[in-house]
Amino acid sequence: EAKRLGRNTFAFFKPHMDFEFKRALSLEMNLRHAIDHEELSLVFQPLIDLRTGKITGLEALSRWHHSIEGDIPVADFIQKAEDTGLIIPLGNWVLKKAMEVVLQLHLAGYPELMLSINISTRQLLNHSLITTLNEVLTETGFSPDQLTLEITGELSLSSIDSVLDTLKQIKSLGVTLAIDDFGTGGISLNNLRQMPIDILKIDTSFIQGLPNEHDSTIITSTVIAMAEKLGLRPHAEGIETQEQQQFLLTNHCFSGQGYLYSAPLSVEQLLCTLEENTGLFIDHSLSESDVR
Ligand code: C2E
Ligand code: MG
Ligand code: MG
Ligand code: MG
Repeated sequence: EAKRLGRNTFAFFKPHMDFEFKRALSLEMNLRHAIDHEELSLVFQPLIDLRTGKITGLEALSRWHHSIEGDIPVADFIQKAEDTGLIIPLGNWVLKKAMEVVLQLHLAGYPELMLSINISTRQLLNHSLITTLNEVLTETGFSPDQLTLEITGELSLSSIDSVLDTLKQIKSLGVTLAIDDFGTGGISLNNLRQMPIDILKIDTSFIQGLPNEHDSTIITSTVIAMAEKLGLRPHAEGIETQEQQQFLLTNHCFSGQGYLYSAPLSVEQLLCTLEENTGLFIDHSLSESDVR
């Protein structure tokens, strides 16, 4: 009997699809379990006013610690969640959890903090997003004007109308919209022109080339200038050095995030960091030369 079962199993998992397929299947089952059993958690990376060094907001980033396999890379499980549709329950969990955490921080003495949440394309295309967003805002009491949704997605011509409609509805709730990974994501200049966007997040790959790599300096300064002329706020991702910060300030980009200021933090680490955040991240000589 065992042998027959074994043979049937073997026949089902044909050798060529064996490894990847089984891995994908188990990842999906594991992810479903993780969503149901709170194996997922959130970390929050501070968003910084580059002129003062003050924390103005937090970006929520998902983490998955699997009990046996350990930390699963976020890019892997978000992609998997997109492919299987699990991004909907996962995304809903992120919305609610992130708002609850930041609301606690508001009540703990940081009422001005903004919150940014990443939204995948499949979430945007899902008809329940607006309803869920409304529900979570009402349930938590989180103020929509302190919420930013970040979008990156690949948008096909067939989906653009539906996405535009959803984005307008999100805007009408009073929520801010940002384009994430601008310059490397799936959003074109044409999309940009059509969409009701407020913030352009300049991708890490350009910021990392500052201040010496010629192409990165041209692209970054041009994107900042373009944002300004279009009435959008530029925001730099992945700032790691004082020189990068200085380049951004000189080119009038006043908002950013990166390891120079803080890595993503656990909820426990946040209160400490917020308390210590008097703007002292900034090397004084640099901020003074910029004020001039
Ligand atoms: P993202 O939204 O562009 O987030 C910024 C990423 O840059 C984060 O990676 C962050 O840890 C990393 N980072 C921050 N500072 C620095 C720096 O100074 N240098 C460098 N090299 N990297 C820095 P993370 O947490 O691994 O997330 C990767 C991506 O996964 C995110 O990119 C986002 O697109 C996606 N993601 C994460 N959480 C969620 C989620 O809850 N929902 C959705 N839909 N996507 C998510
Ligand atoms: Mg993001
Ligand atoms: Mg990004
Ligand atoms: Mg990114």
